[in-house]
Amino acid sequence: MAAENDFLLAIEGLTVSFDGFRAVDDLTLYIDPNEIRVIIGPNGAGKTTVLDLICGKTKATEGSIKFKGQELTAMREHEIVTAGVGRKFQTPSIYEDLTVFENLEISYPRGRTVFGAIMFRRDQVVIDRVNEIAEMIFLDGLLDLRAAFLSHGQKQWLEIGMLLIQDPELLMLDEPVAGMSVSERQKTADLLKKIIKGRSVIVIEHDMKFAEDIAHRVTVLHQGKVLSEGDMERVKNDPKVVEVYLGH
Ligand code: ADP
Ligand code: MG
Repeated sequence: MAAENDFLLAIEGLTVSFDGFRAVDDLTLYIDPNEIRVIIGPNGAGKTTVLDLICGKTKATEGSIKFKGQELTAMREHEIVTAGVGRKFQTPSIYEDLTVFENLEISYPRGRTVFGAIMFRRDQVVIDRVNEIAEMIFLDGLLDLRAAFLSHGQKQWLEIGMLLIQDPELLMLDEPVAGMSVSERQKTADLLKKIIKGRSVIVIEHDMKFAEDIAHRVTVLHQGKVLSEGDMERVKNDPKVVEVYLGH
């Protein structure tokens, strides 16, 4: 067993209670550097709430979330982003009126001047980075298109790009392929495999085929607790999982 410091993310005893209902219940979860972890589980299992807790959107009732040794439960949302945690919500939050280029550009991390004004840089560094990310997310031919005209799948990719341009060490995606066509799903799997270099990814997913395609390890959540964990083969054949999840 690795020492705690070897994990990128170490969650221990994490609990959140909404009016007495424990949506996440004494959860322990460790994520390695460069790992793709897929979290599956029935509706209401607490999957989205776990991401809300990690990114600081929801405050834990009890427990600890350490990211590279830093305690995230004591930090605010924007501090957690700055520390290197990026999170994509289920519905894409992009700027529909801006072009693909502008959406990526606006997400580029900028320094601040001593007076607190944001320094606006459309220099070659930013342009190169936007182009690099656009190619990765299959939108390099559409940089001047207003985001409103993108397909649902392309909007999802754009939002992944907007996170990638910030170069997070931990990237969290909540049902990234929901509503995508089969070919978009395949491309998203390829995209995730490309972008994990130098970072870890937590993906919540219902699509078992997709999960199997990308996961290094799978965690099955049920009633706010880990029901089963391991490689997909092991998890799929775990009688507890078959009973509560796959059997339905
Ligand atoms: P999943 O993503 O696995 O489908 P969620 O994490 O969204 O599940 O929800 C887990 C449970 O917690 C659900 O029963 C949900 O209704 C409840 N829940 C989530 N967020 C809140 C909240 N802010 N207030 C009250 N209940 C919540
Ligand atoms: Mg959810």
